[in-house]
Amino acid sequence: MADNPFFETWDSAAGLPPFPRLRPEHFPPALTAALAAHKAEIAAILASRDPADFANTLEPLERAGRQLSLVSRCLDTLASNLGDPAIEALELEWSPVLAEHDAAITGDSFLYARLMAVPEDGREEDQRRLLAQHRRQMRRAGAGLDAPGRARMLAIAGEASRLETEFAQNVTRAERDWTLSLSATDLDGLSDDFRAALQAAADERGEQGWLVTLSRSVMEQFLAQSTRRDLRQAVHQAWSVRAAEANAPLVPRLLALRAERARLLGFSNHAEYALDGSMAGSPKAAMALLEKLWEAGRARALVEEADLQALADADGLGGTIAAWDWAFYAERLRQQRHGIDEAALKPYLPLPRVLEAAFDTAHRLFGVTFVERDDLPAWHVDARSFEVKSGAETLGLFVMDNYARPGKRSGAWMSSLSDAAALTGARAVVTNDNNIARGNPTLLSWDDARTVFHELGHALHGLISTVRYPSQSGTNVEHDFVEFPSQVLENWLATPAVLDRHARHVETGAPIPAALRDAVLGARTFNQGFFTTALVGSALLDMALHSLDDPSTLDPAAFEAAFLADRKMPEAVGLRHRTLHFSHLFGGSMYAAGYYAYLWAEVLDADGFAAFEESGDVFDPRLSQKLREIYAAGGSRDPMALYLDFRGRPPQEDALLRARGLI
Ligand SMILES: [Zn+2]
Repeated sequence: MADNPFFETWDSAAGLPPFPRLRPEHFPPALTAALAAHKAEIAAILASRDPADFANTLEPLERAGRQLSLVSRCLDTLASNLGDPAIEALELEWSPVLAEHDAAITGDSFLYARLMAVPEDGREEDQRRLLAQHRRQMRRAGAGLDAPGRARMLAIAGEASRLETEFAQNVTRAERDWTLSLSATDLDGLSDDFRAALQAAADERGEQGWLVTLSRSVMEQFLAQSTRRDLRQAVHQAWSVRAAEANAPLVPRLLALRAERARLLGFSNHAEYALDGSMAGSPKAAMALLEKLWEAGRARALVEEADLQALADADGLGGTIAAWDWAFYAERLRQQRHGIDEAALKPYLPLPRVLEAAFDTAHRLFGVTFVERDDLPAWHVDARSFEVKSGAETLGLFVMDNYARPGKRSGAWMSSLSDAAALTGARAVVTNDNNIARGNPTLLSWDDARTVFHELGHALHGLISTVRYPSQSGTNVEHDFVEFPSQVLENWLATPAVLDRHARHVETGAPIPAALRDAVLGARTFNQGFFTTALVGSALLDMALHSLDDPSTLDPAAFEAAFLADRKMPEAVGLRHRTLHFSHLFGGSMYAAGYYAYLWAEVLDADGFAAFEESGDVFDPRLSQKLREIYAAGGSRDPMALYLDFRGRPPQEDALLRARGLI
């Protein structure tokens, strides 16, 4: 154990694991020891001869497994960020072990019996919820089943976890391995800063010229800008089929395991199982929202398609617009109609200004401040650490890793390395990852800037959390509520109050011209038929896949094709995520039959932000304070009750349709 940082106590004031010292070989002994420690903690709870109560059952259960969660979250962090084959191998080896360990505890019938015996009398709301949450979690892990049923649940958990890890690794590998090398004659239409980003990507891999990579932000910018239809098609095609071959055999097996688990627990399919206990409550309620959005979104997309076709005809395209033409002509139409283009806007969105805007928004809403800590290095030189304070009080630590690089998982996400809770005295340590193409200087697209706000919203949920119990801390809430704190924060980016203060020209420092700002804000509902249809299409596909009775012999590609035909999905739109790279569904299980949650939460965020607009002040102190209470409460209160306290009435679906310009 010599020199293994996991066996030392490190600076607990900051709480950041010593990432620069972590090596792959440190993980197996640390995981083995942490697993044993967690088992011993659970055994001690079960060994008690006293009648079960909060102090001898719930509290030790909440304290248990801290070291295990820290070590495994460190492994996740390195696996997502570094693309190191040794770490990937560890992840593949350990994910089923950890999943089975977790399933063995949550499926333990003795622990379940003990939890069922804990009296609720005289307990406060967070404690009653905690008890109900643990009981429910254990019931869903099979703790109430007979011995063969419990054994089968354990085997399912292990195999599913291995398949999910494999699926996610296949996607990362496919994105890492595909590049398109461009020569000087292939750059027509690309803006200077985007060319610089492609050049930086080539440099990073020791290549000459310009390199297109499969990061969403790069792919989207290329499709919007390149005049070369053949290259657009090549990039779109590569994005669309990435990891398809490797993942095709994994999907039916995973779906079959999930369907089997649902049946063992008495549900008719995985969708019923997944939505049990969610805010929506049932697939029926989620589907009702999705169908409404699909209808409105698709109708608008058809109108948009006709407009783009007319533009393409005038341009001499000589045929029907395809999926790789949509963004290109949409960008031109946006310029015609709203007089803006991404290239004119980007100089006003340099990365440091966008970060300043996001931090300042958090400060004006919630009174939090971010102080950079250069003395706390994390997993990569790009990852910056900040101490987050509320007045004089330190809330926790925030690590932000903004740039795309080879081997880093695509997309953007927040993780918690430590959950703040009064019971353990732990402070929050949360991280944000973005995948912004590095430039010189780095200028953000509007989408990238929105993503920075989104992920900071998740981070604030973890940082502001003031709960008693770790399992109710921060983002540990219903899966269809967890996107509310993140999505609602995006709204502030699109306000004059924030843009006028922070959107300043990268060279001159001049504030964004009012005409450009108004054009950007005026164009917010532009192309929303396309975005809504692609997003809702993926959510509907998710529900369809997870409602199948017997998915074991499914051909995922054929199923998807039949689904799209049946839904009359416009071919030039297509899905935001296709089945065989849909990591939300198959790279883990949190969003399986749960992709609708983004839209479910969007109703809340559109309706919730409207409260600020109606007040006439997007930083209205009274509303800000009420919103802060939602972030602070984590999972300690019912989400609808929290929302009602904030808004004074239930959310209205039309707010979402209005925000997307669909009504
Ligand atoms: Zn999110």
